[in-house]
Amino acid sequence: MMWLCRMFSIGVVAAAVSAAAQGPAPSRPLLVTVDDLPVAMGHLHNDPAERERITKDLLAVLARHHVPAVAFVIWGNVSGPADVALLERWLAAGHELGNHSKSHPDYSDIGAEAYVADVEAGRAGLAGLLERHGRTVRFFRFPYLTEGNTVAKLDAMREYLGHSGQMSVPVTIDDQDWSYEERWVQARRARDSEGMERIAEEYQAALRHEVATQTEMGEKLFGRTIPQILLLHANEVGSAQWDALFTWLESRGYRFAPADEVLADPAIATSHRYDNEPGGSLWYHVAHERQSKEAREQVADLLRAQAVAWNRGDLAAFCAVYDEDAVFLTPSGLARGRQAVLDRYTARYPTRDAMGTLALEPLEAREAWGTEVTLLGDAFPSRVHGVSLVARWTLRAADGSARTGLTLLVFLRRGGRWLIMQDASM
Ligand SMILES: [Zn+2]
Repeated sequence: MMWLCRMFSIGVVAAAVSAAAQGPAPSRPLLVTVDDLPVAMGHLHNDPAERERITKDLLAVLARHHVPAVAFVIWGNVSGPADVALLERWLAAGHELGNHSKSHPDYSDIGAEAYVADVEAGRAGLAGLLERHGRTVRFFRFPYLTEGNTVAKLDAMREYLGHSGQMSVPVTIDDQDWSYEERWVQARRARDSEGMERIAEEYQAALRHEVATQTEMGEKLFGRTIPQILLLHANEVGSAQWDALFTWLESRGYRFAPADEVLADPAIATSHRYDNEPGGSLWYHVAHERQSKEAREQVADLLRAQAVAWNRGDLAAFCAVYDEDAVFLTPSGLARGRQAVLDRYTARYPTRDAMGTLALEPLEAREAWGTEVTLLGDAFPSRVHGVSLVARWTLRAADGSARTGLTLLVFLRRGGRWLIMQDASM
């Protein structure tokens, strides 16, 4: 589930859906995943009979549409034999249960050790139940879809998951189905049928929009029809809305596919090292990683081009990559503006011989980017708009002597090209 509030208008969403999903598409495998078992937002449903009714209704819709689901259990929310019986209903219906931690922590908020301990406690609890049914815990779903906000945290969980035989199941169609639950339950309890109708309309419009846009995004990334993984929650609004949603999905060419088929697809199995917030769709992570890589390559290309310009004695071309307002720092002072940078170089290196031969070697790069929010309130990484790069420069004179040092370059994307905004050379 995402953590931002919903903000959208049905009109805008409806227009986007009709534009993005025209006509029956080719058959797309779709894995349905259901989070937060036994019952999502369980505090709204303390009555065991209500929890049982919701579970039965969800399972009935899944059966009607022949959906083989993977459902993820928050073990700390399994509060007694009645809840265990609910989980056994999912198993009896042929669905697979996966681990969703013990207490649903946000990996951005706690350290790796505490997080792994919580996830392991969830696994151990669920494993006890599954063993009695001859099954094992194969799958894990990251709460809030955050896989770790540092490389070390990312690696700690990947190592733990590998050792414990659990596979992380990503989400490609992230949505906010969970955010309708409280309003839906209130409207139903107040017998507000108009309110329920309105919520139903919003739920369907929002889910269709997410399915259409995130399918389109994934297929653009890979240039082919690819499987998708839909995130739903085990809630009451779902028990009333899944039937219409699944019927619509079938009409758009989606085929409910088992986990093993979908997870084996190379697009879904794409490795990424996205170590940041927000969580969200796998496609955002893949797209972000591609953009980061592209940005690093582009600035590395610029450095190569600069060295080539220098080595043919073309200082104007060498300085063309500086922004008009660039700032150049050295231990001896500061130059402001491209022209001042060029003047400084021209004064220091008046002849081709004085320039010698320059080599620039990128050592480390970091991208600057932020968080954007969709119409529906889903957070996603923005495009990369800045790169700071540490490089080693080496200048060889004609007599073979060499000087070397480090430089920190800050690049910003301006009008489709990268320009150096700041250069600190030492
Ligand atoms: Zn969850």
